[in-house]
Amino acid sequence: MATPPAKSAQDLPDSIDVAVVGAGYCGLSAARTLARRGVKVAVFESETFGWGASSRNGGMVLTGMKLPVPTLIKGYGREAVRKMYAASLAAIDCVEQIVREENIDCNFSRCGHLEVACKQAHFDGYEESAALVKREFNHELRIIPKNELRGEIGSDIYFGGMVDETSAGVNPARYVAGLALAAQRAGACLYDHTRVASIEQETNNGARKFCVQTSRGAITAREVILASGAYTTEATPALRKKIIPIGSYIIATEVLPSDLARELSPRNRMIYDSKHFLYYYRLTPDNRMLFGGRAAFFPETENTVRQSAEILRRGMIGVYPQLRDAKVEFVWGGTLDFTLDVMPHAGKLDGMYFAAGFAGHGVAAATWFGMKLAGLICGDPNDIPFDGIKFPAAPLGLRSGNTWALPLAGAWYKILDFLT
Ligand SMILES: Cc1cc2nc3c(=O)[nH]c(=O)nc-3n(C[C@H](O)[C@H](O)[C@H](O)COP(=O)(O)OP(=O)(O)OC[C@H]3O[C@@H](n4cnc5c(N)ncnc54)[C@H](O)[C@@H]3O)c2cc1C
Repeated sequence: MATPPAKSAQDLPDSIDVAVVGAGYCGLSAARTLARRGVKVAVFESETFGWGASSRNGGMVLTGMKLPVPTLIKGYGREAVRKMYAASLAAIDCVEQIVREENIDCNFSRCGHLEVACKQAHFDGYEESAALVKREFNHELRIIPKNELRGEIGSDIYFGGMVDETSAGVNPARYVAGLALAAQRAGACLYDHTRVASIEQETNNGARKFCVQTSRGAITAREVILASGAYTTEATPALRKKIIPIGSYIIATEVLPSDLARELSPRNRMIYDSKHFLYYYRLTPDNRMLFGGRAAFFPETENTVRQSAEILRRGMIGVYPQLRDAKVEFVWGGTLDFTLDVMPHAGKLDGMYFAAGFAGHGVAAATWFGMKLAGLICGDPNDIPFDGIKFPAAPLGLRSGNTWALPLAGAWYKILDFLT
């Protein structure tokens, strides 16, 4: 039976130590850590707990970052990237530890991920990537040549693959629901259907505080954490102009016969392909094929969800002709928080703590960044390797609330996929 959702707190106190905007992995993980360390914390969520990307994603708990390692090293230097990569591994451990400590029933499993090469040139690059990752981070990736790929995936369209056994899978909605309950048990006050409308900084006799206006009334807070991801609103304009909200869509088939499911994904990996405009897919524990992609770049609407269902079904059959007759029973969309440099960022903006830019790595990263921001507030040394790296604003037309140029970005990535 599904775990009952966390109940919303009712009365709003006049003041609190820390106000958190957004009840996804980031906000709830921060709240859990703060409450466990004796800090009074309130989380404000304009919809229901976990309503944003945290309940809608593919549940892939992945190592590394979105950008390839050579690009990262070129941009940030060897030492910084070693710390970033180590953080990506620590983030998965962090999810695993929370799931274990809080006894969250969310099918967390270290099943590993498989990247599949859409072109021979992509596969040719895997050898070098694996050697670099081994040399720089002492982390093992395994190359799967095309003639062995059937042991990993029931598809013949790829040129080979690369496996990372450290990655994991999780039921994302159950995980975020469990995280909400865990934060609440630790003593955090969670408010659903409570929109933060504005945040003003005030200084009184040298003491600084924030006045947070919510749809339930005003509250003052010593510190604020912005954990609103791709759904960041005009309430926090400095953060909003840095975020590029990109739609991603998922279909799920009917429950498949177990021998067919085993043929499609014999080792139950989290799978994604090597394109920019990529497909990602996996089996669910009840043997549905869950197949996602950036079928439309726009954030989700009824229209984009409907169109995406058909695009994704065609994509799925392209990979797995065996699923030609499988019924698609579910389709949904959500919005990812990208940044212009495709990096996660954390630190302070307008005096408030924030973390964002997790893109397709947010299950682990958002959890870890939330915990780390809480640590900073409690006085821990700052060891977040992403804090302090340059954080460029998104160009007009790609920003949250003003996304007219997103289809152009989508077209650009399709051209890149054709050319590279
Ligand atoms: C379809 C899809 C598939 C994905 N697949 C994967 C995957 O397989 N693996 C992976 O690692 N990542 C994946 N991601 C990304 C991952 O889900 C996100 O990076 C992660 O959930 C971000 O968590 P968060 O807590 O930062 O933000 P969110 O979970 O988006 O939470 C932000 C919350 O803030 C609330 N909010 C915003 N503004 C306000 C306000 N003013 N007042 C009150 N509340 C506010 C929103 O309602 C929202 O609930 C996927 C995302 C999508 C959409």
